[in-house]
Amino acid sequence: MATQGNLEQWDDFVGERYDPNRKTEDFRKFDESAPAGVRQFYRENHAQQTRRFVQEKKRQYAVRAKGEMGIWEACEYLNTLVDESDPDTDLSQIQHLMQTAEAIRQDGHPRWMVMTGFLHDLGKVLCLYGEPQWAVVGDTFPVGCAWSDKIVFPEFFEANPDRQVSSYQTRLGVYSEGCGLSNVDLSWGHDEYLYHVVKDYLPLEGQYMIRYHSFYPWHREGAYEYLMDEQDRAMLPWVCKFNPYDLYSKSAAPPDVAKLRPYYEDLIAEFFPAKIAW
Ligand code: FE
Ligand code: FE
Repeated sequence: MATQGNLEQWDDFVGERYDPNRKTEDFRKFDESAPAGVRQFYRENHAQQTRRFVQEKKRQYAVRAKGEMGIWEACEYLNTLVDESDPDTDLSQIQHLMQTAEAIRQDGHPRWMVMTGFLHDLGKVLCLYGEPQWAVVGDTFPVGCAWSDKIVFPEFFEANPDRQVSSYQTRLGVYSEGCGLSNVDLSWGHDEYLYHVVKDYLPLEGQYMIRYHSFYPWHREGAYEYLMDEQDRAMLPWVCKFNPYDLYSKSAAPPDVAKLRPYYEDLIAEFFPAKIAW
């Protein structure tokens, strides 16, 4: 059975790293004290997310041949990911999605943004397709150009085969100045996958929130500015607006999934057909 243990660990780590109440802003020190599981996760992620790997995964999933599923159905499917080590205390995947969406709703944001919050992690079904966790979660970063030292655990890139490709090791690498993030390959994971699944049904702002919510080096650290185009600059504030709802809505009491379900079924019907291709 697929488990979510390390998925949770990664999410918790990011939440703590960017906790506004955390005493030190020294990320290096903070990262060094990360649990062994988180370090091991990033060791694998940074060693194996090569440009070739990313492009293969994009080709593999672009055909959307995993079958047809409705959005609610996908939530229930994702919810079969369980944390075997601690099934009672951790939020289920559906609870995290609902909590994020409810926090957005309570702040009076538009319905498309509530919808986006509710969807944003459905790409984690990649785990249920058998993808390893290092290819599903974790901060994302561009491949095909030099890694920013703003990426968490940059030292683990030493083991990445792209290190030996000199054309990938310059500031721009295979890209051009201001080429726009839509022309940049980011490390593969749940953001990019879900973007391709839902992009036809959400406004551009929502598409950006989904596609780049794990791109912390960009939206939290200000790295890779030179790859941005006009559209990216216009959309960055929306990605930043979304981030706290993902990170900081967790401590609240778990939402009543059964009670809220009718609201979300209506919302889903407003934006999506009964089934979409995954
Ligand atoms: Fe996520
Ligand atoms: Fe999330």
